[in-house]
Formats: sequence, structure tokens, C-alpha cells
Amino acid sequence: MAHTVTLIEGDGIGPSISEATVAILDAAAAPIEWDRQLAGLKSAEAGHDLLPQETLDSIERNKVCLKGPLTTPIGSGFRSINVALRKEFDLYANLRPVSTIVPGGRYEDIDLVIVRENTEGLYAGIEHYIGMHKDPKAVAESVMLITRYASDRIVRYAFEYALEHDRKKVTLVHKANILKCTQGLFLDVGREVAKSYAGTIEFEERIVDATAMQLVLDPYQFDVIVTENMFGDILSDQVAGLVGGLGFAPGVNVGKTISMFEAVHGSAPDIAGRGIANPSALILAACLMLEHMGLRETGQRVRDALVTTVRAGTNVTRDLGGTASTAEFTDAVIANLAPAG
Ligand code: NAD
Repeated sequence: MAHTVTLIEGDGIGPSISEATVAILDAAAAPIEWDRQLAGLKSAEAGHDLLPQETLDSIERNKVCLKGPLTTPIGSGFRSINVALRKEFDLYANLRPVSTIVPGGRYEDIDLVIVRENTEGLYAGIEHYIGMHKDPKAVAESVMLITRYASDRIVRYAFEYALEHDRKKVTLVHKANILKCTQGLFLDVGREVAKSYAGTIEFEERIVDATAMQLVLDPYQFDVIVTENMFGDILSDQVAGLVGGLGFAPGVNVGKTISMFEAVHGSAPDIAGRGIANPSALILAACLMLEHMGLRETGQRVRDALVTTVRAGTNVTRDLGGTASTAEFTDAVIANLAPAG
């Protein structure tokens, strides 16, 4: 039976990398029916809202969404459409699996996962200016919001993910030595949650600055990292750098019932419309999506074909040192697909 998935092509390079991803999934005979919906600049240009109700209804109905990068027009009333989407569906966990695809980097065989809390911390956006001595912006203040509820569900999510994916260790990353209340609460809750997994999944706690250094010195000591919003944002880009940058970084935003899969990079307006974008990150996001839908074998075949193509190096896009167009790269991935077993 076919699964229906909401597809938001996105802006800039979004339509081109989405088209590539859909073509590869079709070639892999993934049983998916695409429910195409608009959002972002493309939607506004077609005379609709930036986030049309029809799109929201489609995501609510289908529970799974594959999303290209979205551009938030300045002055549109949205801080970010991506953030608005996460809020709308309470997509509280941002999961970023990072693994080596291109050999020959500083490290081989990197395989770790960052689980980032998506809804609070400093990114809750509770901030304001305080005027003084005729200067309306003399002081700026921001609140780091940490709740027991959100801390509990994100750490629990990390442990459950570790169990399901045969991972051995969860590292909770914090700054409780300085931010004793907010980060202290996150750490306390994490320690409590960890007790219910004792003997099954190893638990360790680390301070964020030391973690950043250790990730560069010896990334193999990490397995699943769980952390709050801003630290997760920074560390997940750092670990993407360990495997060659954002070109190979897929992500998923997960809620209670809805999951939204995406490339971590943006809409790349500087190269949009030129047919040279690298679709790898969105293809890898689609592989995560296939696994999530119980289509693990299809996801693995697509991933293997992508890895083979990138490692061969003859048909890769410019950002990977080649000369291939998005379409040529896509054809090469399709040619490397193993038959369904
Ligand atoms: P970006 O990721 O779009 O681009 C950064 C650089 O990386 C550019 O030089 C771009 O050409 C290159 N690049 C990115 N993806 C590439 C790909 N697949 N292949 C080849 N090169 C690629 O970041 P930005 O310029 O800061 O943001 C541009 C727009 O994207 C902004 O409107 C931003 O709000 C939006 N954005 C959206 C998302 C999302 O939808 N999840 C994430 C980040 C940024």
C-alpha cells in the first residue's frame, strides 16, 4: 500500500533538489504518493499565505512531510517559516544523524547523532530592550526558558532513539556549572530519566565547551548526544563539518505524531535556477523518512547508491569538486541503485 507524504518543494534550489529526490525514490520503487503543497516564498508569489492552511491540513493528515528549504521574506511577519512550522506541530525534537560519506577527511567512519531540543532555551525568543539615558537600546535581555516537561521528553526521546537504533550511549551536554537554574534543571531531569535506562544504555554528562573540543579531538567517543536548543544548533553544525559540511546533513523534526524531514542547508539563492545544486542532503533526509515509514530496505538502497556515486567522484556537483549538474548527479545515483531484493 502506498504511503502518502506531504511534499513541500521549497524555495531557491528547493524545487531542483526535490525533483531529484522524487526521481530517485520513484526509481527505487518507493511506494509513496506525493501530496504536493506550497509554503514560503513560492506560496507568497502564487498569491497564497506563506504557510497556507491547506498545507498545514495536509501535514496533519499525512503525518509525514518532506520539505525543501524555505525562504522567509523579510517583513513578512514571520521570524522564520521553519520555526513557525515546528511550533504549529510541536516538533520538539530535532534529530541530526551524522555519518561519513566522503572518505579522505580528517576522520573516517564517523557515526553519531545529535538530538536537539527544539522548542525552548534562548531560542524561545523571549527578549527585549531596556532603554536608558535616551538610548532605547541601552540594554538587551533574553530569557533562557527551560521546563521540566520539555527536558524530560527530549532526554527520553534520546534514550528511546538509542534503544531503537542499537546505540550504546547517551551523552547529555549542558552548562550547569554556570547556569545553575536553567541548565541545572535540564541536567537534573536528564539524570532522573537516565535511571530508567540504567544497565541498558550508558549515560554520561558533559559540559558544552569541553564537548565542542572533544568532538574535534576524538569524535568516536560519542554516540547519541542530547542537548538544549542553542547548544544543539551549534554542535550539530560542528559535527556536520566533521563529515564534509552541510551538503551531507539531513535532519528531521519530530513531534508526538508528525515528522518533518529536511536538508539542513538553506535555499541557496546564490545558485538557484542554475541546475548545479547538490541534492545529497535532501536525498539523505528522504532515506531517514523511508526508515521512519518502515521502508528500511528501500532507504538503505537509496543511501548505498548515493554513497557509491559520491565516492566514485566522476558525476558529482561543483561543491564536491566535480562538474556534474543536479540532473546528471541524479541520473548517476539512479544508475547505481541496486535492484529491489
Ligand atoms: P544556505 O545554506 O542557503 O547557503 C549557504 C552557502 O551554501 C551558499 O553559498 C549556497 O550556495 C551553498 N549551498 C547550500 N546548499 C547547497 C547545496 N545543496 N548545493 C550546493 N551548494 C549549497 O544558507 P543562507 O544563504 O544563509 O540562507 C539562504 C536562505 O535559506 C535564507 O532565506 C534562509 O532563511 C533560508 N534557510 C532555510 C532553511 C530551511 O528551510 N531549513 C535553513 C537555513 C536557511
